[in-house]
Amino acid sequence: MLNNYFQHQAHIFDIECNFRCPDDCNAPGCRKVDIIVEVTIFDLIRLGRFLNTPAYHLFSQYCHLGLMICEDNIRYKRLLIKMKKPCLFLSENQCVVHDAKPLNCKLFPELYHIKGVLPKLSKNPLFYTFPCLKEPIVISEKRIKALTKLRRMSLREQALSHEYLFGVPSFVIDEKPLRKKLRRNHPKHQNISLQDYDKLLNKLLKSYSYIENVLEKISRLDAESERKNLFEKLSDHVIMEHLMEKMVRPMVVHRLERDDIKQLKRSLHPPAIYFT
Ligand code: SF4
Repeated sequence: MLNNYFQHQAHIFDIECNFRCPDDCNAPGCRKVDIIVEVTIFDLIRLGRFLNTPAYHLFSQYCHLGLMICEDNIRYKRLLIKMKKPCLFLSENQCVVHDAKPLNCKLFPELYHIKGVLPKLSKNPLFYTFPCLKEPIVISEKRIKALTKLRRMSLREQALSHEYLFGVPSFVIDEKPLRKKLRRNHPKHQNISLQDYDKLLNKLLKSYSYIENVLEKISRLDAESERKNLFEKLSDHVIMEHLMEKMVRPMVVHRLERDDIKQLKRSLHPPAIYFT
């Protein structure tokens, strides 16, 4: 089941694939800390099989928990697994896990071309140094369909990954108390970066033993029965439709308080929580 699923994904990714990273690219997306590469538990399983390494080890060595800004509402941030930067799978500007890299790495930059956001992206200072964004990308109709399918698979993996690790398909955090705390701790800091938020987040999650729980769930992924269970859920359309709906319309926002995580009922609309 697992083999078939990953082989099917690899086949989809190879359909009329003509994109190659330019020779002069020094992999800014794999190096820059401000460019977030989201990783799911399915990416960890895929990588674990490729490297013959437990998912727990991969998470501890290569990833960390962090936050991503919700596109249209800076008040809210989303909890996720991020690849550490510079990515430790990068060697001499080459990805050493190319065949098993996270789906988000596979989809860049072609998916952004399909979405029509490349012109906007290339004007963003963060992406100035990406040579692949300086030339037009040519993608066949067949490949557009294939990548759209892969993106849908990646969103389903994301929803189930969050449900498995965090108990909800989209763990939205109210950033106000965090910002207040950071302002208090660093009164001279003009700009609070996402890395500042991530540091504080990890400190707080550790103090509530939340990270321990996440690690315990990740370590369970090495059991065949746990993976089978997960893949059964992933193939269940009713479960997945429900999770996807909850992912785009979260009803709960989390507040990280001094000694606990408080849940607040909120009805967020898709634009407030939609991320690319
Ligand atoms: S996994 Fe590979 S492509 Fe993805 S960030 Fe790391 S080095 Fe780059």
